[in-house]
Amino acid sequence: MPDHVATSNRSQADALPVLRQRGQHEVFCGLTGIMWLHRKIQDAFFLVIGSRTCAHLLQSAAGVMIFAEPRFATAILEEGDLAGLADANDEIDRVVARLLARRPEIRTLFLVGSCPSEVIKLDLSRAAERLSKSHGPSVRFVSYSGSGLETTFTQGEDACLASLLRGVAPASPRAPSSLLVVGTLADPVEDGFRRSFDALGIPVQFFPPRRAWELPEVGPQTRYLLAQPFLAETGAALDRLGAQRLPAAFPFGAEGTRSWLAAAASAFEVPRARFEDVVGPAERRAQAALAKIRTALEGKRVFLFPDSQLEIPLARFLHRELGMELLEVGTPYLQREHLAAELAMLPASVVLSEGQDVERQLDRCRAARPDLVVCGLGLANPLEVEGITTKWSIELVFTPVHGFEHAADLANLFSRPLLRRGRLAV
Ligand code: SF4
Repeated sequence: MPDHVATSNRSQADALPVLRQRGQHEVFCGLTGIMWLHRKIQDAFFLVIGSRTCAHLLQSAAGVMIFAEPRFATAILEEGDLAGLADANDEIDRVVARLLARRPEIRTLFLVGSCPSEVIKLDLSRAAERLSKSHGPSVRFVSYSGSGLETTFTQGEDACLASLLRGVAPASPRAPSSLLVVGTLADPVEDGFRRSFDALGIPVQFFPPRRAWELPEVGPQTRYLLAQPFLAETGAALDRLGAQRLPAAFPFGAEGTRSWLAAAASAFEVPRARFEDVVGPAERRAQAALAKIRTALEGKRVFLFPDSQLEIPLARFLHRELGMELLEVGTPYLQREHLAAELAMLPASVVLSEGQDVERQLDRCRAARPDLVVCGLGLANPLEVEGITTKWSIELVFTPVHGFEHAADLANLFSRPLLRRGRLAV
């Protein structure tokens, strides 16, 4: 059987010290996830129940992309509407009725909560139930919160996927074993993984599905692999349905992708020779492509601010496959269980931090004089002005970066800003 990288050094994963700080933090809210979720789930519509700020965020985030017809909107509740909850519910019903009359192709409508205190008071899950009754079975209504209070932008996807799981049918305990890959992947990445699992002989489904009605059945025979490290709530919902998580590193870089595929191959008893036939050539191509980029990154010092929750797998990739030195690896939340395989592969001397007190973290960053800082948009501009090279972490969720085929694309996201800064300095 393929070797497991996953649990090789569990005790280190448990033991790594973590610097925890609370204070002002700089992150986008969970509404941001709508940008990639609406592209993935093609028959869904996302209706944000929010304020003008929410509408503005969606418009400006969407404005940098080109869409034929966006499948999201904001129902702006004015203060007057919010004076009475009954009025607010009537307003939601009116907006939804208008929307469905104009867009009859909508099959799943997400009601997305936001953070004005009046919106928090609304019970959107009850609104979803009420709307389900009045609009019949042709449209499914699902609710979740994208509120920016104490959350980070990738948690919007977690909340959305967990809410979708409330509608899955339990699989029979006698159903054959199958694999569920969990987390939004760009379609070409998903297609590539599907080909790999087909070649390994592993029956696979992806979640979220491209059509919201094609929900998988989940039960004790379901083995799931997380494709993204920010899916704590979704993982817990799958566990409650009896599914079994396959522990592995995340499929970033050649090493992470091997670990991830090996976890599935091991669970489905794929013969080692078959595994190597399928994985070996793609892995070697990825390693060769990474070797060319490594020269630009080797020995460079990187500081990761907490933002996307991808920081720990990225740090592992940047350190082990590209030779970068890790100064500090920040994450908004440290989900030790899902990240155990990743933590085990970090150097024992790594400085891990959870949460943020942004001014103190900026001080540590400046003092460390990094060659590259990975951070959110709000911090990138001021740091660039100070002469510090940055990489926007939000790009990592908009760019296909998973798997062997995209390992070099992922590395290039980090080498490009350094090369550009080098050219400017000449
Ligand atoms: Fe809306 Fe809150 Fe996000 Fe601001 S932080 S855009 S108010 S959900």
